[in-house]
Amino acid sequence: MKNCQPMQSRLPVTIESHQFRNRDIIGGDPALDFVNTVTGRDQSPRDWLDSYMRLLEWAAFVHLLPERILRTLAKKGRVEPRAAAAALARAKVFRETLFALITGIVYGSVPTKAMLALLREHWIAGINAHELRFDDGRVVAELRNNAADFDLIASMIAYRMVEHVLPLPKDRLRICQGPNCSWLFIDSSKAGRRRWCDMAVCGNAAKSRRFYARSRQRRKSRRDE
Ligand SMILES: [Zn+2]
Repeated sequence: MKNCQPMQSRLPVTIESHQFRNRDIIGGDPALDFVNTVTGRDQSPRDWLDSYMRLLEWAAFVHLLPERILRTLAKKGRVEPRAAAAALARAKVFRETLFALITGIVYGSVPTKAMLALLREHWIAGINAHELRFDDGRVVAELRNNAADFDLIASMIAYRMVEHVLPLPKDRLRICQGPNCSWLFIDSSKAGRRRWCDMAVCGNAAKSRRFYARSRQRRKSRRDE
């Protein structure tokens, strides 16, 4: 893939409180939008999950779980804040593993066994959170009423990742080429050439950066003449 951004790891991450907006949801699937709750991994990473309650807010915003389960988790989180914080920490470890897994797929590297093992662990928990019901002539998978475990969000992300995202052709999984972004998304455009999470934001930023670089180069070559 051309125009790859170098992925720098171990940049200091700032934790920010953030109100989720529609423009934060560009991944094409909540599993990718979850990974995108860290933005700017290539320059100055900011992590928008500053509490377990924020994770619930995010899950409600993307309609990851039914409201009754989100309410139960919020109530549980108030009673057991330490257990909720531990689940948030586990969810973040999983999120960073997913980022490494997907960028590996995009850039053509083989995932480690540890990455696949962690994904499998959460995926199985996601399957276990479901029951099968027969409804109106169809068998449907539905979340169990007693599935409200603190780790349910991570389990559901894994479930969606395995069932909906990873089966996609690998050239449809993308990483935004805009500066200070590195969001992941599914390219569902007809031509399959989408490069930015949002043309209006990262596309223009990348273009003006290239324009600036070119005009600086022109000024420099005029001086050198
Ligand atoms: Zn972007």
